[in-house]
Amino acid sequence: MPADRLVRLMAAPAPPRSLSPTSASTWAQCQLKYVLGYLMGWQEPSTMPQLVGNVVHRAVELLYGHDPADRTRAHAGDVLRTALGEELPKPTYARLVAAADPSGEVLTTGDDALDGLFELEDPRQVTVGEDGLEVWVEAELYGAPIRGRIDRIYDASGAEVIADYKTGKVAQPRFVQKAFFGLWTYAAALAAADPEHRLADRIELLYLIGRERLSRPVLRDVAIDQAKTLARTWRTIGEVVAADAPEVVARKAKLCDWCAFKAACPAFERKLPAVGTPGHDELLTALGLTQRSRRDVAAALERLEPPDDVDETEGAA
Ligand code: SF4
Repeated sequence: MPADRLVRLMAAPAPPRSLSPTSASTWAQCQLKYVLGYLMGWQEPSTMPQLVGNVVHRAVELLYGHDPADRTRAHAGDVLRTALGEELPKPTYARLVAAADPSGEVLTTGDDALDGLFELEDPRQVTVGEDGLEVWVEAELYGAPIRGRIDRIYDASGAEVIADYKTGKVAQPRFVQKAFFGLWTYAAALAAADPEHRLADRIELLYLIGRERLSRPVLRDVAIDQAKTLARTWRTIGEVVAADAPEVVARKAKLCDWCAFKAACPAFERKLPAVGTPGHDELLTALGLTQRSRRDVAAALERLEPPDDVDETEGAA
């Protein structure tokens, strides 16, 4: 069986309005997965890693929203519980909650992540204001409208740093460049949106559970290169979606084992209703997926981290 399969879309989705580094990475991983999620709005029920990631991100945002003197470890534990209380009632977690109360596991893992944060830095010494937390950035890069969320932009002894928190495992050396893709793009997007086109000084990945900080100086050529990659992806998506009979590649790889669409994927099962027909929509619904607004789906997927240690270039069984 070939690794990839060309899949005809029976209903052409509306083209995207913008692209984020996360959605561009999904397109690179599998075009069909991108179309079903980002363009058709099919969303899987959230998983435990997504819940943990969202709760921890919110807790860290709440912590850094306080005056530096109040950013203690004890306070971090309090805001972790506040964040869990905010997150858990959201409909996307209904299936997770119905199976078993996830609170204990989230708090255990979340406390570990916060311990990691305090090992990586003393939050009382970090210079960041509320306007530097959870920053939505919008810019046009080489004709491509970019929209996405940056966890933190802060001042490190006079250097402007763009940082992303991670709750998954530390990227293996061969995946580090890929792990930085989003931050390079955001560095370019922030510079494009700045009247003087100033670049940030550094980009950082803070692996909270892995207790590791990966850092890179921002180099103009690399940022431009990554921005051009994103712009190429934007143009390709536009061309594919605008075709009279749109076809996308379903790319079989190890990551298919974590894909919510696998049981409805023509790359694995040929006797399926065609993608974009009511029959295929019914199948997705029967699998527990729900169709939501594309903006909601994009926001929910923004923090998705790949499963640990999976080589996306490996073919699936
Ligand atoms: S199962 Fe694999 S090939 Fe199919 S949509 Fe998901 S990622 Fe793509």
